[in-house]
Amino acid sequence: MTVFESTGCPLPVRIESRAAVDPPPACDAIVVGGGIIGLLIAIGLRERGRSVMVLEACNVGSAQSGRNMGFVREQGRDAVEAEAMRYSASRWRALAERFGARFGWTGGGHLSIARDEQSLAQVESWGGIAAGVGTRFEVVTGRAARDRWPWLAKDIAGVGYTPDDGHVDPASAMRAIAGSARELGVEIVEGAVVEEIERAAGRVEGVVLADGRSVHAPLVVVAAGAWSGRLLSRVGVRLPLHMGRGTLSATRPFRRITESSGWDVTGAGFRQAPDGRVVFGMGAFVDVDVRWEDLRSSFALLPTLWQNRRTMRVRPGAQLARDLGGLVTGRGLSPLDRTEPRANMRASDEGLQRLRELVPAFAELEVESVWAGVIDSTPDFLPIAGGTGIDGLLVVAGTSGHGLGIAPALADGVVAIAEGRDEADLIDALSRQRFPS
Ligand SMILES: Cc1cc2nc3c(=O)[nH]c(=O)nc-3n(C[C@H](O)[C@H](O)[C@H](O)COP(=O)(O)OP(=O)(O)OC[C@H]3O[C@@H](n4cnc5c(N)ncnc54)[C@H](O)[C@@H]3O)c2cc1C
Repeated sequence: MTVFESTGCPLPVRIESRAAVDPPPACDAIVVGGGIIGLLIAIGLRERGRSVMVLEACNVGSAQSGRNMGFVREQGRDAVEAEAMRYSASRWRALAERFGARFGWTGGGHLSIARDEQSLAQVESWGGIAAGVGTRFEVVTGRAARDRWPWLAKDIAGVGYTPDDGHVDPASAMRAIAGSARELGVEIVEGAVVEEIERAAGRVEGVVLADGRSVHAPLVVVAAGAWSGRLLSRVGVRLPLHMGRGTLSATRPFRRITESSGWDVTGAGFRQAPDGRVVFGMGAFVDVDVRWEDLRSSFALLPTLWQNRRTMRVRPGAQLARDLGGLVTGRGLSPLDRTEPRANMRASDEGLQRLRELVPAFAELEVESVWAGVIDSTPDFLPIAGGTGIDGLLVVAGTSGHGLGIAPALADGVVAIAEGRDEADLIDALSRQRFPS
């Protein structure tokens, strides 16, 4: 069996050879990266009267943002980000009111499903965080859980339920949000690979594109997902990021089982889209493609890999070969090395099997497409957002596989910093300063 291949992705990567339109030579603010975070930052800055340009190397949403699981959930969040996620949840509900039908918003709540007592204790322990930020959360066990969600397997120990959580179709959400940004006057340039960040006297001055053109701006926000670390390292800003690949699958449309998204806390997660398709994946399981940076900082990365050895499969392969090739030939490390990521077909098979155990009616599901997305993670699996130590240069990266939901708080926090206001306390705890330099 071929382990790695893809059979279709909601928003495939389009590699462009040059920018689709000529970017203007200057603007008030440049956002590098047209993912969910870059677009929301651009909208926030534009709403405050700035001229804003989003420079996107490929096509908007084609990295993680247009191909993730689509969960917008508070449940299970770390205490450090719970307040920011609370804020984001209300922003998502406002977006859903505006675009809901266009981006497949389904407000059916989220279930963390425990199959044994140990997992149930883990689910219950989140109650303290929920109470701290005022999120509605209940734990339903045994018979009562089976009565309430009769489609679940009979042997489950219990369920943690957050009724206000929801899910979206990420590709449609990205199209709707990009459309709204353009209507507001944000200039989105696709096919624009940012190769360098220009600075002088400790201040950012703009960026240089792969074709040699410069774009000037006194504010540059790097929201380049998994590629942010490499780009920022060119101006001496180091981010402790490693890259993983997560695999998702979608089935043919199936009769409606539930509007809630679900998560077996030891394995598979799923949601049923409004058209009946079931999108599922193996949760925290990722293939870690080793890069040159990972070898260099292997001592820092090893504890993370060891603690997560059941879910992270280390793959020293094509990525590392490309990096070493670049270093040996003197070309250096490309800040953007993007191809369509290969899905792990074994993870898809395993996910389907676990899903069928969890929801017996899903025995009849037929998988239609399998794809992968690249995930940028930090050692504590929390995002990095805020300043870089260089005036006018801000960053959001390392969203660690759950940045879709929390994107509004990260974006608004960074916009607040750019505006010099105090409201950035939502993201204060997410500063890169928490890691030793
Ligand atoms: C399989 C999978 C499942 C997930 N499930 C969920 C979920 O259910 N809920 C949730 O909240 N989150 C989920 N996530 C995580 C979520 O998708 C991300 O946290 C979020 O999309 C990050 O958005 P972003 O804008 O930072 O990055 P991205 O979407 O990766 O966007 C970055 C963009 O920057 C561009 N870029 C990079 N370098 C350059 C450069 N040098 N010049 C110009 N452009 C550049 C890239 O082309 C890319 O389009 C999942 C992720 C994956 C992969």
